Amino acid sequence: MLDRRKVGWFILFRVLTISVFLVSTIFLDLQDSVVSLSGLVRLTVATYLFSLVSLVTLALTDRVTRTLTYAQIVWDVILVTVLILLTGGVSSPYAFLFFLCIISASVLLARSQAYYTASLCVILHGSILDLQFYGRLAPLGLSQIPAQQFGASYLFYLIFLYSSAFYLTAFLAGHLSERARLSETALKEKVIDFEELERLNSSIVSTIDSALLTINREGRIRVFNRYAEILTGCSQLEAYDRPLAEVLPGLSARLPELFGVSQGECEHTAPSGTRLVLSCKSVPLVGIDGDDQGAILDLRDLTEMKRLSLELKRADRLAAVGELSARIAHEIRNPLAAISGSVQLVALRDWVDEKDRKLFSIILRETDRLDGLLREFLAYARPNTPNKTPFGLRQLMADLCALLSRDPRLEKVAIENRVPEALSLVADRDQLKQVFWNLFVNGAEAMSGGGRIVVQAGAQREEGGNLVRIRVTDDGAGMDAEEVKRVFEPFFTTKQVGTGLGLATVYRIVEAHHGRISVESARGTGTTVTIDLPA
Ligand code: ADP
Ligand code: MG
Repeated sequence: MLDRRKVGWFILFRVLTISVFLVSTIFLDLQDSVVSLSGLVRLTVATYLFSLVSLVTLALTDRVTRTLTYAQIVWDVILVTVLILLTGGVSSPYAFLFFLCIISASVLLARSQAYYTASLCVILHGSILDLQFYGRLAPLGLSQIPAQQFGASYLFYLIFLYSSAFYLTAFLAGHLSERARLSETALKEKVIDFEELERLNSSIVSTIDSALLTINREGRIRVFNRYAEILTGCSQLEAYDRPLAEVLPGLSARLPELFGVSQGECEHTAPSGTRLVLSCKSVPLVGIDGDDQGAILDLRDLTEMKRLSLELKRADRLAAVGELSARIAHEIRNPLAAISGSVQLVALRDWVDEKDRKLFSIILRETDRLDGLLREFLAYARPNTPNKTPFGLRQLMADLCALLSRDPRLEKVAIENRVPEALSLVADRDQLKQVFWNLFVNGAEAMSGGGRIVVQAGAQREEGGNLVRIRVTDDGAGMDAEEVKRVFEPFFTTKQVGTGLGLATVYRIVEAHHGRISVESARGTGTTVTIDLPA
């Protein structure tokens, strides 16, 4: 491809050369005035002007570079021809300048253009010699005599010699510049490849989510990527050339084995103070000559993965225990119902006296309590995936209120349903009924003297998506901070006949709906339970 800068330099070089020639010719001319000085000066000025115009055009646009380059070569050939004519034709010392034209054509353009230029030179050079020999150049001030003195055969020999030399130059210069061009292009392609590879490499190293570092034979840090900086709180600059054991003390015990292929785990304290478990892989770092230069280390944070797998194991175990206990509870409830039924029947008999009846009522009360406990436990422990359907929340609350009005615990309690009519939800209706039942019962029990429970709800916009926020507020006894912390624990209760499973069940259901629940309360000021469910 044509290089504008190359053409530009060529024009400047020509200006320089022509200046040198002008000076040297004037000097020669002063010695033996054979040369037409005014013609020479005109030629030089014209060349200067042409060069200037070419340079300006070249700087302004790059669309005519090719044409401009052709024009330079043609101009040069004409320039040399005129120069030869001005400096004596046959006896001019400047015929060699044709070679320069051929070389520049091969360097600036291509091999074929070098041959065209050589042909042009052959024609022009031969014509000058011939025409001068036959006296046709006399009007230009070129005498026939020097050519006649050379003789026809010598002139023919000269023309043949120059023509051969022109073509030979075209061949050699064309060949050489072609090769130079090829290797230049190949080199350029390689440079591009290397740059691309380097960019790719460094972006991989800096964006990867594992700490990549290299150490030298002395165990000092060399390369230290972005993730390593995050893990250690040390920048690449700070870490450079520091001993590995100093930046990552957890690895100090394993240092000797790091220089071979190794894999293991180590503990590390993050800049925030959290303890992390890291996996550490190492491979030897081999130089270009195959020499041992240290090691490459790859550290990954396993903390979250370990925590998750532990949690998974625990959840698995809990699910198994939950299922088993749910089954046992279910099995107990049946005989319990039989016992309670039988006792009720026996208590009706005539021969049962007052004392026995009292004992029977204790049995009935306690079986009832046991049954209640088992019912709540079953609600809590039974594995339950929500069966989601759309429904109106306000209607659900109204149904619940109707149901609760028959419960003696809620006799003196007013429930204020402030849920907007339009608000609907996609959730397991029965499970949500259970949730609010438990919350209302808790509220009522906290307001033993009677009071008001307010239910509010509304759609909420959040980053993670839209959600529905429901708040249940009572003005009962409230809890202290220690109790608030423990309310969701199974079997945590402050009541004499409580099971401590109400809020634990609520928590489970909300969790199964991918929602959130929180409790705000203070002793004596009432309690607000807030539930966020995905809309
Ligand atoms: P239970 O009602 O059987 O005790 P829960 O899980 O429903 O079990 O509640 C656990 C404990 O949390 C209760 O014993 C009570 O101390 C406290 N609590 C729950 N809701 C309220 C409330 N609305 N006001 C005051 N305390 C409450
Ligand atoms: Mg309760």
